Amino acid sequence: MDRRHFLRAGGGGLAALLAGCGGGSSTASPPSPPGGLVSGGIDFGPLASRLQGSLVLPSNAAYDSVRLLANTLYDGIKPAAVVRCGSVADIQAALAFVQQKGLAVTARCGGHSWAGYSTTTGVVLNVTALNSVTANGDGTATIGAGARLAEVYSGLIALGVCIPSGSCPTVGISGITMGGGIGVLDRKFGLTCDNLVSADIVTVDGQLRTCSETSEPDLFWAIRGGGGGNFGIATAFTIRTHPTQDITVAQTTFLTRDFAAVFNAWQAWPRSLPDDIWAQIYVGIWQGNGMFTVTAYCLGSAAYMTPWWNAFLASTGATPASSPTLVQQSYHDVALGSCAAGSVAQCSLQAYSSTGTIQRYAEVLSSDYFSQPLADAGIQALIDAATALAQANGVGSYIFDHMGGALGRVASDATAFPHRDALFSVEYASADVTGHPYDPGWANGMRAAMSAWSTGGAYVNYLDPLLANWQSAYYGANYARLQQVKKAVDPNRVLSMPQGIVPAS
Ligand SMILES: Cc1cc2nc3c(=O)[nH]c(=O)nc-3n(C[C@H](O)[C@H](O)[C@H](O)COP(=O)(O)OP(=O)(O)OC[C@H]3O[C@@H](n4cnc5c(N)ncnc54)[C@H](O)[C@@H]3O)c2cc1C
Repeated sequence: MDRRHFLRAGGGGLAALLAGCGGGSSTASPPSPPGGLVSGGIDFGPLASRLQGSLVLPSNAAYDSVRLLANTLYDGIKPAAVVRCGSVADIQAALAFVQQKGLAVTARCGGHSWAGYSTTTGVVLNVTALNSVTANGDGTATIGAGARLAEVYSGLIALGVCIPSGSCPTVGISGITMGGGIGVLDRKFGLTCDNLVSADIVTVDGQLRTCSETSEPDLFWAIRGGGGGNFGIATAFTIRTHPTQDITVAQTTFLTRDFAAVFNAWQAWPRSLPDDIWAQIYVGIWQGNGMFTVTAYCLGSAAYMTPWWNAFLASTGATPASSPTLVQQSYHDVALGSCAAGSVAQCSLQAYSSTGTIQRYAEVLSSDYFSQPLADAGIQALIDAATALAQANGVGSYIFDHMGGALGRVASDATAFPHRDALFSVEYASADVTGHPYDPGWANGMRAAMSAWSTGGAYVNYLDPLLANWQSAYYGANYARLQQVKKAVDPNRVLSMPQGIVPAS
């Protein structure tokens, strides 16, 4: 289910360079730095003495790995300090300290922010030590806000349950939940945030607030799609769980000359599909690739999936470039994807831990939603842009995800995530790979190229730093209410990002 790693690794040699799910961090206490506890002219001693966790300063040996994000594009940002928060009290102490000193602050869970918003030249609050996964005995589980999906899925599988969430095991539960949470179970169970029952959040005034439908309902509404980093530092999420069951994975590749026919069959498919089935198209764009992949996931047996998959293959009218496969697998193997064979410790970024096996990446992303089947001219625009990028020897990708099902049956203002009427979404990515020209504006340019057909919406978890009208793109009509919530909990923008919610005036 680790779509980037799995699908790209399936794509060939260059794909290996793009394998891109990073995350995790060590929580071992660093030795005191030789220069004392001063960084950026600030004495961090008073904060360090209050922490149950630990403080990592530039003079610590651990600093050069702890400060990194999964995306290498942000390696140049050097925090004054990284606080490895060991408790709620650590978060409260750090929030008070940064406000007293006038320092910028940001939270970090999995470190996968596409725009690099979980690092800063100020203070990073790394919550990855808060990673427990506990069953509550009432169909919910409480998940520490620092858990990465590998930890979440493994912990839940041990309890015989699952939650709908993303396909990259090193992504953090905090970012993905507060931005939405798109994955293979969404048509059946909704987004991750749709399954959120309550959350514990420390707001910048130091209060630990438990929010739910009945307690702090506005804050609860805002953190279901409003995006991480805007309203406070989450410490735990209580999420509705579902029994695990086998998943049947069907996959094949096609030649790019058949893209229009296959795409048309794929976008027509949800009209007849049960919620149990979700399918994705991955197009790896680079010179000489010449193929793309369709993968479908079914919450059910191979026997149940086979007629649906065969009907899809027949409806394309195209001949697959590789023999289609259809395999019933354990939920464990699908959820943990490329990490399934190893341990959770191995399913971590190499840069963070000696056991980690995952490489970081350098990629810029943008996204679009489509509420109607894409017209032939729109499909041709996708083909033309991919062809031009490949001819220029650039490297990029399109990933198309089915929407609809349970996630589409939620009102667009019931949570802060507004894109409920979409038929499918797309990620456009351009990668910075040695030996290939790299255009950081290509992904954003795809939104303009497709604007005649798209809804104009964009996914806040696929942050695009070049998006000009991000307020309406990410949030639609929900932005004004998000501003009211921001005003109530963080009127002075202690938590501030370039594309962060601005408090209502
Ligand atoms: C390789 C890759 C694969 C992905 N796959 C999927 C997918 O399948 N489905 C999907 O929906 N999305 C996916 N995403 C997008 C992902 O959901 C977002 O990037 C998400 O924000 C990452 O969360 P994080 O905790 O890993 O990142 P971080 O960078 O740690 O955090 C993201 C944002 O949340 C804030 N934040 C972090 N922790 C907290 C906290 N405890 N309290 C408050 N704010 C916090 C940060 O400050 C930052 O603004 C993917 C991203 C990547 C890079």
